[in-house]
Parts: sequence; C-alpha cells; structure tokens
Amino acid sequence: MTPIVRFAPSPTGKLHVGNVRTALVNWLYARSRNGKFVLRIDDTDIARSTKAYEDGIKEDLNWLGMNWDDSFKQSDRFDHYDKAADYLKNCGRLYACYETSEELDRQRKILRAQSKPPIYNRDGLNLTDAQIKAYEDEGRKPHWRFKLSGNAAKWNDMVRGEQSIDTGSISDPVLIRADGTYLYTLPSVVDDIDTKITHIIRGEDHVTNSGAQIEIFEALMDELGGGDLPSFAHTPLLVGKDGKGLSKRLGSLSMDQLRGRGIEPLAICSLLGKIGTSDAIEARPSMDVLANEFAFSKIGRAPARFDEQELEHLNARLLHSLPFKDVKDRLSVLGIPESEEFWNVVRSNLNTFGDVAGWSTVVYAPMSGQIDVGDAEFCKGAADVLPDV
Ligand code: GLU
Repeated sequence: MTPIVRFAPSPTGKLHVGNVRTALVNWLYARSRNGKFVLRIDDTDIARSTKAYEDGIKEDLNWLGMNWDDSFKQSDRFDHYDKAADYLKNCGRLYACYETSEELDRQRKILRAQSKPPIYNRDGLNLTDAQIKAYEDEGRKPHWRFKLSGNAAKWNDMVRGEQSIDTGSISDPVLIRADGTYLYTLPSVVDDIDTKITHIIRGEDHVTNSGAQIEIFEALMDELGGGDLPSFAHTPLLVGKDGKGLSKRLGSLSMDQLRGRGIEPLAICSLLGKIGTSDAIEARPSMDVLANEFAFSKIGRAPARFDEQELEHLNARLLHSLPFKDVKDRLSVLGIPESEEFWNVVRSNLNTFGDVAGWSTVVYAPMSGQIDVGDAEFCKGAADVLPDV
C-alpha cells in the first residue's frame, strides 16, 4: 500500500526539535515507500494561529529539505467539520453539556476525594427540556461531547505494538467548545478520512487521543465514504541528555535559533532521524540516504535523548565531509573564492559553516608582516627553537 501521511502542526508557535522529529518520521516513511507527505495546518484555534507562524513552518520545512506533496489549512474546511458534527449529533454521539469549567473542576475534585477517577459524569445526556431551557435562559451556551462506547479501542501500533485504550476509563471528549470553536480532535479525524491518510504518525502524547479518535473514525467512516482505519505509530517523546523533558528548553531549540547558530539542516535531520533508533548516530550525506535507512522496527520504546552537544559535533563532522560541489555556491555568497583546494584544506577546521570566513582571511588576506611589540618575547623564543637551516 502506498502510504499517505500528514504532518499537522498548529501555527501557534515555531517549529522546534520536538515537532520536527514528528515531521521527519512522517517524511522519511513517505519517501522510503514512494508515498505522499501532506502538510496540514491545524489552525482551528483562530485566536492563537498566525500567518507568520504558518509561513515560518513552511520556511523551516523547506530549509530542512522536507518537501510536501500537498498542503491545506483546517480553517478552510469548517463546512466539512460542521457537517460531520451535525451527523454525530443526529446519531446521538455528540451531545450538549452546559457545565461551566468551575463546575467541572468541582466535580473532578469531589471524585478525586472519593478516590474515584475524575471522569465526566455524563449529566449532559440526561438533561430534560426544562433544564436545557433554564441553562439557555441563564445565557449558557452548550459545549459538545462525543459519547464514547466504553469498549476497548484496539490497534497494533507500528512502534508500541498491541495497544488497548479502555474508553470507559476516559471522559467523553469535548469536540466543540461553548463558543462554537472546534478542538483539534474532530477536524483531525474528518481530514484524515477525507485525505485518505493511511498512517497517523505522531508523538506518544497522543496515545489516549487515539483511543477516542478511533471511535470517532468508526462513527464517521461510512458517512464520509472512508475506507479502512489508518494505521497508527506513536513515537516516544524527546528528552534532554539528563532524561528530563525538553518543554522548557524548546524555545532555544527552534529551527530559526539553530539556523542562527550555524547548525546545518542535515545535521538536525541526521540526529533527529537516528536518536532513539538502533542505527548509529552519524551525519548522513543526504535526506535520501536517511529515507532509505528508515524503518519503524528500528525505533525503540524508550524516550529519545536529544543532546545539543551531540548536535554540534554532528554538525562539525558533517561539514568535515561535505564535498566542494555542495558548498560552492555558499562560498560565493560569502564572497569567498570558489576553490576546491581551499575548501578541502579548511573544512576539517570548521564547527559551523560561518567559520569559513575566518579561514578565508587566513588563507587569502595579505599578511601585514608587522609583529606586535607585545609578542616580541614570544617571537624570540620561537626563533630560538627553530632548527638550524
Ligand atoms: N495539531 C496536532 C498537534 O500538533 C496534530 C496531532 C496529530 O498529528 O494528529 O498536536
């Protein structure tokens, strides 16, 4: 089967090593199987989504060498989500609830105090017309929850193996907020069906979502003319070298920060494509090589450790092996003569490509021939140790 995968970032921030890894696993899988890679912009949260972030995401993916075969935005597809929501409402799978967030908080606290799981009590399912009218008269607007079956949602995860989420142990998810906006859950399923996504590849923080989303897939599949349920792959999260979560450091690990520090896109993809796998962590010469080496069976279950120092080392090693033909144009952008001899001599000294400017001065700039008086003693010492000619 030719895979169709999607990377679905929300344009509410910059791409960082965490979401780039998800993009990369999707891209490598698609390219390794002659499949399609779709870029879906998850901008249903209109208030927090910006065009600048959307443009930044596309620029970063291009810079990293991850081209896409198709792209669309969720904000262009509200009519599809409305239709799906109406269908679910008519089937009784999407029901109105009127609790405020304070009331829900209180309910959860009470349940916890009784050592019970803080699962929504489904009061919304049993409201009488009079109760609904009373809420509406108060000015409350409903939010809408999807009624889970209470059965186990099962799938064979391409990374985690057999999975089973007992949907009786989670709250019916809210799909539409009281202000009428969609949470990501329903639009994602509608799009995945409509765009015939074959594999949903994302971080393991979505495992529980997948349980609920599988039931939404099943509820909508026939109505939307979908085929089979997609396969799922949930990759372990990235952690720092110390094993701690990266969330606080992600700001400094955005693509534009790394680009600014002179990190090569291929160094980033080589590292993110290999950490947490059984392959050696080494710079690879191209994205095609990374794609050819890709296999889900190589991805382990343990968190993948991201080490910035390792990225810097990999970056340097990548530069040391870069052939002249790959850097020729970049040298000329810096105003450095396009000389293969020069490149082959200096490349093994570089930590970042920008260092080449200093080496160009060393090699090409005229020597002043002046010796700083402060260095005179050093020069005398150096002269003394010179061998006799
Ligand atoms: N926009 C969602 C996220 O960034 C997409 C998750 C998914 O891949 O389904 O978490």
